[in-house]
Amino acid sequence: MSDEIRSIHEFELNIICEYFSNVKRQGPGSPEITRKALSFIDNLTDESQIADIGCGTGGQTMVLAQHAPGRITGIDLFPRFIDLFNSNAKSFNLQGRVRGMVGNMENLPFQPGELDLIWSEGAIYNIGFERGLREWRKLLKPGGYIAVSEATWFTEERPAEIDEFWMREYPGIDTVPNRVSQMQKAGYIPVASFMLPENCWTKHFFEPQVMVQENFLKKHAGDKMAEDLVANMKHEAELYSKYKEYYGYVFFIGKKF
Ligand code: SAH
Repeated sequence: MSDEIRSIHEFELNIICEYFSNVKRQGPGSPEITRKALSFIDNLTDESQIADIGCGTGGQTMVLAQHAPGRITGIDLFPRFIDLFNSNAKSFNLQGRVRGMVGNMENLPFQPGELDLIWSEGAIYNIGFERGLREWRKLLKPGGYIAVSEATWFTEERPAEIDEFWMREYPGIDTVPNRVSQMQKAGYIPVASFMLPENCWTKHFFEPQVMVQENFLKKHAGDKMAEDLVANMKHEAELYSKYKEYYGYVFFIGKKF
């Protein structure tokens, strides 16, 4: 296995996609936290139109659908995730009102003012927090809600090792007050923001990967790209346990103003 840790951006998408197809969640989160974020949203009915952007295989979407009325469209770039999403919806008997579609968050297949709620857990970084909030706002009805979770700094300053890691992975990472202010400037009332607890990373994100890593390495024995990807994910888990006081995921909930 290589001693050097690469940036996640250097891996082929196919191999990342295969790795993450084997776990329920492709980012930190939990059913409890999805429900908590939903508790701030009060405009939903059976007629509501909801989009889950960067839905992955739909771990959080199924929780959302079980606790909110309305129709949900999950959008993700990867067809393989969307296939798994749609079979997940079927296994929960939600296929009547939950549908996955391949699509790009930079060019979403919705009409202006069509949506009551935009949901996006651990995915808005792909377009950038501010750009996502501004562009997606047009798709919301007046008074519609947005709920996104995002990797966030908890403090103004932090040790160099973790700062360098995030500058490589996501230089757009910012602090909680800056994100709240950006949300307000993008035309939302900042309704709530809260930190995700540690178990969203450990129990629900890193631990399920341990089993997957073993099988993945067996299947790809001798493949350096696969070995490096596993090394990379292990390194990310170690960094989290070392520096979790300084960063984590935060949910931001806003109401279109
Ligand atoms: N919401 C899921 C997945 C988060 S991982 C969860 O919390 O478990 C981020 C997801 O964004 C991945 O599934 C990735 O395929 C998707 N993604 C990345 N770029 C995208 C884009 N431009 N448009 C749509 N989805 C994208």
